[in-house]
Amino acid sequence: MMKYEAVIGLEIHAQMLTNTKIFCGCPTNFGAEPNSQTCPVCSGMPGVLPVLNKKAVELAIKTGIALNCKISDYSRFARKNYFYPDLPKNYQISQYELPLCEDGYIEIIIDGSAKKIGIKRIHLEEDAGKNIHTTGNYSFVDFNRAGVPLMEIVTEPDIRTPQEAALFMRKLRTILRYIDVCDGNMEQGSLRCDANVSVRLAGQKYYGIRTEIKNINSFKFVQRAIEYEIDRQIAILERGDKVVQETRLWDPERGVTISMRSKEEAHDYRYFPEPDLVPLVGLSSLAEKVRGELPELPDAKGRRFVSQYRLSESEADILISERAFADWFEEAVKFGKDPKVVANWMLGELLRLLKEDDRDITKCPLKPAQLAEMLSLIEKGIINIKIAKIIFEEMYRTGKDAHIIVKEKGLVQITDENFLNRVIEEILSRYPQEVQRYRAGEEKLMGFFVGQIMKATKGKANPQLVNEMLKKKL
Ligand code: ADP
Ligand code: ZN
Ligand code: MG
Repeated sequence: MMKYEAVIGLEIHAQMLTNTKIFCGCPTNFGAEPNSQTCPVCSGMPGVLPVLNKKAVELAIKTGIALNCKISDYSRFARKNYFYPDLPKNYQISQYELPLCEDGYIEIIIDGSAKKIGIKRIHLEEDAGKNIHTTGNYSFVDFNRAGVPLMEIVTEPDIRTPQEAALFMRKLRTILRYIDVCDGNMEQGSLRCDANVSVRLAGQKYYGIRTEIKNINSFKFVQRAIEYEIDRQIAILERGDKVVQETRLWDPERGVTISMRSKEEAHDYRYFPEPDLVPLVGLSSLAEKVRGELPELPDAKGRRFVSQYRLSESEADILISERAFADWFEEAVKFGKDPKVVANWMLGELLRLLKEDDRDITKCPLKPAQLAEMLSLIEKGIINIKIAKIIFEEMYRTGKDAHIIVKEKGLVQITDENFLNRVIEEILSRYPQEVQRYRAGEEKLMGFFVGQIMKATKGKANPQLVNEMLKKKL
């Protein structure tokens, strides 16, 4: 199959974190009573006029800067005409020939090396409402979503594999969440992705005919839908047929894409400049203001973590994937703890527990100061690593401090040599044959003895001490 190469471009809709809609003052809360967040403007009553939400413009510009785009000084809205029951005005206010941002890129790491995926444009538009079909011969329309501000982010056809597409989406989500413009929730639809896919013979200069897959609502499905579509198109070419340019739907239940409409049925949107809104002018100065408010971005943070804390790139990459996770790390390190050790606990135990509970770090009962305290207990020899794992999980479940758990559960490490001596004698007398074999040179039995002693002390014996004492005795 190396004969073929895929060409992929993504069109992403991101719902922006504004309090109100893009052209009226209605709230944008998710999951409210149907049609409870509407007004004459967003339900398309005659004679109303849109008023642009400045915050939406700022958030789109913020995104443009974070995605390395040129920010237009002059931009304009356009009217996109089509009829659909969820579109109350029969047109959508969008942008066409003069988008807010153009020519940017996102860097992804693929097989250890960086690759830039071009961003063609970012424009602002309003969302449509939602049709709710019933089993009877009628449907409902909920206009709560109508007029919610969206950013459309369009990539260049620079993506070559389904894996790259998935990496791109994750990186984009990370950035959008860092800069607080979108919550990135694909399941709730606040981040949606359409994938344009074509295949061509490897080395061929021109792109093949593409299809566009809609309705992809998870990271897993981005990858799977594109994989399926590539295989489908290759099979068509292999039998000597041509791919039809069309819009297809991803069916997650069956794991296939299905034809939705062909190019012949494509809409002619009759775009024209939106007469009800004045053009946006002098955006450069707004861009300068917004630039000053940007936080440290994921790539920069990753590079800093590697150089400042001597972490590996892959460790840094996971730590910075969520801003709150990176902050948690830096807070724990501030208590004077070794960054490598803190990173190990976070990337191992903490991530495992958070994933198990599908829990966000911001809702984690265990705080950085508490990890730091637990690490101090290890440093002082009060607990060993094995016990620390038990304590860590208990801290995570209950939010209690390590020293409290140690006291409550009697988990202090045993360093009392008299006591350990008795345990060692007891074990050695229980296994006389193993003792003989050890003395005859079978040194790997050391691990067996240590294991038995740890078991007898419920993991509380100091392993170094046990090792030393055993060696002397044997
Ligand atoms: P249109 O004007 O028809 O919407 P665009 O040029 O805006 O087309 O491209 C839409 C999306 O399709 C972009 O993400 C782009 O990268 C992608 N794209 C364009 N041509 C191809 C192709 N041959 N194969 C795959 N993706 C493509
Ligand atoms: Zn409204
Ligand atoms: Mg387009």
